[in-house]
Amino acid sequence: MTRKERFDFVIHYFQEHAPNAETELLYDNPYQLLVAVILSAQCTDKRVNMTTPAIFEHYPDTKHLAKATFDKLFPFIRSISYPNNKTKHLIGMAQMVEKEFGGEIPHTVEELVQLPGVGRKTANVITSVIDKQPNMAVDTHVFRVSARIGLTVKATTPLATEKQLLQFIPEDLVHIAHHWLILHGRYICVARNPKCSECGLKPACKYYQNVVMKEEIKALNEKRRQSAAPAKEVKASAPKKKAPVKKAAKN
Ligand code: SF4
Repeated sequence: MTRKERFDFVIHYFQEHAPNAETELLYDNPYQLLVAVILSAQCTDKRVNMTTPAIFEHYPDTKHLAKATFDKLFPFIRSISYPNNKTKHLIGMAQMVEKEFGGEIPHTVEELVQLPGVGRKTANVITSVIDKQPNMAVDTHVFRVSARIGLTVKATTPLATEKQLLQFIPEDLVHIAHHWLILHGRYICVARNPKCSECGLKPACKYYQNVVMKEEIKALNEKRRQSAAPAKEVKASAPKKKAPVKKAAKN
């Protein structure tokens, strides 16, 4: 299977099985999505979704959030990973949006990455989710799943993964392909013990063919060897016949 055929298989599979894949973060507008994505770094979407309703109630927009103090905002974020940094980033982000962007969340990657707490991945998520821009956000799931399937080859950084994926995924599908790969990594192609038996991508997956199938064949052979072993053991442990005693020859 060529790399192009591998991509085609994966894209067709997801188009059929996950045509409406989308972010699991809950939000109503670009401001809420930006807050949620900043909070989601190294944290589950589930945990973020438990936290954001109270934040959005107390700080409904960047205008309110820009005036928040660290001590007032921190308790809302305490249960999330890296709460100190994230509290500072949210306040800094809101202040910069107010000061530099007239209170509007910017819509380009180049502008978004200027905000505190916003890296390339976050900017790609915001622009692809809000405007369906063809920007591929590479998180740990996208990185791992792409490499396992063989969509990427020797990509050692998220940026290399991003570039390789963009070479093969049609521009109008990039925004949804990000969710396909994330959700597949979150629920099926998990980091430890991927659930290959449940996975529809097996025919196109390099990892399945090169690692899992070989292990399965090895295990099958071992089982066969073990089931054949008792007969041999019985034979090996059967009492040996005594050699006939030769009579002494008469002179
Ligand atoms: S076959 Fe296994 S390794 Fe390949 S994508 Fe599916 S779950 Fe991941």
